[in-house]
Amino acid sequence: MEVKERTGVKYIYEFSEGSAKMRDLLGGKGANLAEMWRIGLPVPPGFIITTEGCREYQREGSKWLDSIWPDVVEAMRRLEKATGKTFGGGDNPLLVSVRSGAPVSMPGMMDTILNLGLNDETVKALAIASGDERFAYDSYRRFIQMFSNVVLGISSERFESILSDAKKKLSLQYDNQIPASAWKDIISAFKEVVKEETGNPFPMDPWVQLKQAIEAVFKSWNTKRAITYRRINNISDDLGTAVNVVTMVFGNLGDDCGTGVCFTRDPSTGEKGLYGEFLTNAQGEDVVAGIRTPQPISDLKKVMPEIYDELLKVADLLERHYKDMQDIEFTVEKGKLYILQTRNGKRTAKASVKIAADMAEEGLIDERTAVSRVTPYQVEQLLHPQVDQDADLKELAKGLPASPGAAVGKVVFEADEAEELGEAGEAVILVRPETTPDDIHGLYRAQGILTSRGGMTSHAAVVARGMGKPCVAGCESIVIDLEKEQFVAGDVVVKKGDVITIDGTRGLVFLGHAPLVQPSFDEDFKKLLDMADKCAKLEVWANADTPEDARRAREFGAKGIGLCRTEHMFMQPERLPIMQEMVVARTREERVKALDKLEVMQKEDFVGIFEAMDGLPVTIRLLDPPLHEFLPKKADLLSRLEELKKEGKGDSEEAREILSVLARVDALHEANPMLGFRGCRLGIVYPEIYEMQVRAIFEAACDVIEKGKVVKAKVMMPLVGTEEEMRRLKELTDKVADEIMKKRKKEFSYEVGSMVEVPRAAVASDEVAKHAEFFSFGTNDLTQTTFGYSRDDAEGKFLAEYIRLGVLPDNPFHTLDRKGVGRLMAIAVEEAKKVREDIELGICGEHGGDPMSIAFCHSIGLDYVSCSPFRVPVARLSAAHAALNLLK
Ligand code: PEP
Ligand code: MG
Repeated sequence: MEVKERTGVKYIYEFSEGSAKMRDLLGGKGANLAEMWRIGLPVPPGFIITTEGCREYQREGSKWLDSIWPDVVEAMRRLEKATGKTFGGGDNPLLVSVRSGAPVSMPGMMDTILNLGLNDETVKALAIASGDERFAYDSYRRFIQMFSNVVLGISSERFESILSDAKKKLSLQYDNQIPASAWKDIISAFKEVVKEETGNPFPMDPWVQLKQAIEAVFKSWNTKRAITYRRINNISDDLGTAVNVVTMVFGNLGDDCGTGVCFTRDPSTGEKGLYGEFLTNAQGEDVVAGIRTPQPISDLKKVMPEIYDELLKVADLLERHYKDMQDIEFTVEKGKLYILQTRNGKRTAKASVKIAADMAEEGLIDERTAVSRVTPYQVEQLLHPQVDQDADLKELAKGLPASPGAAVGKVVFEADEAEELGEAGEAVILVRPETTPDDIHGLYRAQGILTSRGGMTSHAAVVARGMGKPCVAGCESIVIDLEKEQFVAGDVVVKKGDVITIDGTRGLVFLGHAPLVQPSFDEDFKKLLDMADKCAKLEVWANADTPEDARRAREFGAKGIGLCRTEHMFMQPERLPIMQEMVVARTREERVKALDKLEVMQKEDFVGIFEAMDGLPVTIRLLDPPLHEFLPKKADLLSRLEELKKEGKGDSEEAREILSVLARVDALHEANPMLGFRGCRLGIVYPEIYEMQVRAIFEAACDVIEKGKVVKAKVMMPLVGTEEEMRRLKELTDKVADEIMKKRKKEFSYEVGSMVEVPRAAVASDEVAKHAEFFSFGTNDLTQTTFGYSRDDAEGKFLAEYIRLGVLPDNPFHTLDRKGVGRLMAIAVEEAKKVREDIELGICGEHGGDPMSIAFCHSIGLDYVSCSPFRVPVARLSAAHAALNLLK
């Protein structure tokens, strides 16, 4: 009578009685085997003793096992019937594996025994049946070794030393070179060890072997390492492990046998089709050990055409069942295919994208599932060359991962040199303590940028991200000596011209040319991102300052420009002198003269951007940074003055001019420029500056409209904090717009809005919103002003230490601080909607490209995020993941 009939509890399940849903009872491995059986795959026959059995065993020990033993014997008899083999005897002995399998994976924590059922008699039968005596005795000694270790608790060392002595004596290198006769001697020695250690001979009775093996698996649930693993991984001690008893199949019983692994799609490219390798007349270990070189799976078509066809069908069935690419282990025993295992296959980022897009097209999965299969981090990898993570490299230094991707080049320390060598076709990395707008030409020509100071929103970081160039910023562990043209990292001195690799994704610096993996933005990628857009609620716009940036943003799928920083247009080398003229102007007239020249240039820029963005919104932010940033350097002026004096020209016109500029530099000097005369404060005190910019915008709009294109201009005011500021600026913009409409005899629509980047604008947003048709959160400044951390100083100084000490969980300039900055944003949204229900809301700080920050923007109901063009794809996927609740 079965135990079930006696106690009402069923402890043993055939594969045919289980399914994937029964993980808790059958363990992960058992449930999977049952599932494969259920869908008709050729799985080697076996049975499972449940986790409930394990719990019983922990309570009652061997007594419980004795009570269910008749059922185990019954199950073994069914295996004999299914395989035509006999357990413990006959010409064709049945061998089994006994493995643990908990409901959650605990890799390597518990034990496995293979080839159980071998003894001095059955090994002879196996030798005859396989026609390979060497194999039979090798299998036997493996079994003795495993059993003795797992069940009898004898250290593997004892067996290994016998084995290595034998190999030494025979002058052999590998185990598989040991002949049968030698294995027989080794087996005798093994048995001696068992007798010595336990006082008993090695058990010859397969039923005793089986019982002890099952007990050992149950016991291994409570080994120290298993308990520790559960504690670390928060796994309950009550789960218990199931025991899987499965018929051994051998791939090395002749030329009609073999073993292999295959993927249903290529794990590195994602291409559909069987991909993998196999070996005829071999067992799994031969593949792993690399003793023989496996053949590509396509060769199986020639060697075993029927098996190949069957495998194709299995692959198809498995994909349709699990709806994902599978990694399959199989064995062929005497012309019969067995599937030993299947699981979702590991794959590269590129393959992830292709597989997800293809499977959605094939109708195997829906678009949402496809989108959820690729992470924003993987997309990030695809857009930039990456340092090959498998390469064995020595790290030189670690800084902030300021702009992703990898770059290799010769070290240069001056922007001029970077430009010169870059133009000559050399790959260079510009290494500077920090960069300034003066270095822009060098940044442009360099492959990557490494700075020892500055943070995630430092000049180098922002510009590098904008250009899509790798940057490691704030790398404080390197000491740069500009005089000697070298930097020191630990005990390594890197000189000008030495080659380094920077990894801006991880913030690492390596000496020499590290191997790189190249990026791709192919059709599959586009398809997947189109699917992502359908899932997302947030749109993704881009921060772009040039027509070229705008075109790239559009190519990457941006739905508009969320921030065009106009000051970047003034920093170009041919414009800077005019800008300086404007800044040093002593009177309004002088200023207007310089502004007139700038207006022509600004208009050109806007025409280019409006054309590139035909039909899509373009948000142009009026001049923001402190004026003194555009001034010549005081030290340069003083040294020129000194020179003039030495030449006796201390009273010349040039000297007088320098003195006047110096006076202006001093007048504009600020103790804390970030909180000083910048942003809309400039536009209010010197309205002619903003008037010029607004004129340039609307003149450009008229020109582009005349060309038959659609312009959606949005004028944005930086650093607004009060209602009156916004009111005046809106009035200024409307006045200029009116003038131009009259002058050009043309009607055009436009919007005027505000950045929200100081706390006052956020909490008083109901007032600001009266005059602003849209808001864009400038979270770089909002983070700076909310925390009171200087953007340019914090990251290089104390922030890293704060994060290391756990004072802050993340860098708030990188991942939005929800509790503080986020709270202000939420208040701003709520208050603004009270006065203007349909106010358009976006974000254009650097957080607009960060997945977790994007998830927050989604949660407070923004309409779009805006980030650098190169981050647009990451942001599109993140917006979808946020909507699918996958980013927490
Ligand atoms: C911001 O402050 O978030 C912003 C976008 O403006 P900037 O970085 O140019 O100050
Ligand atoms: Mg700002």
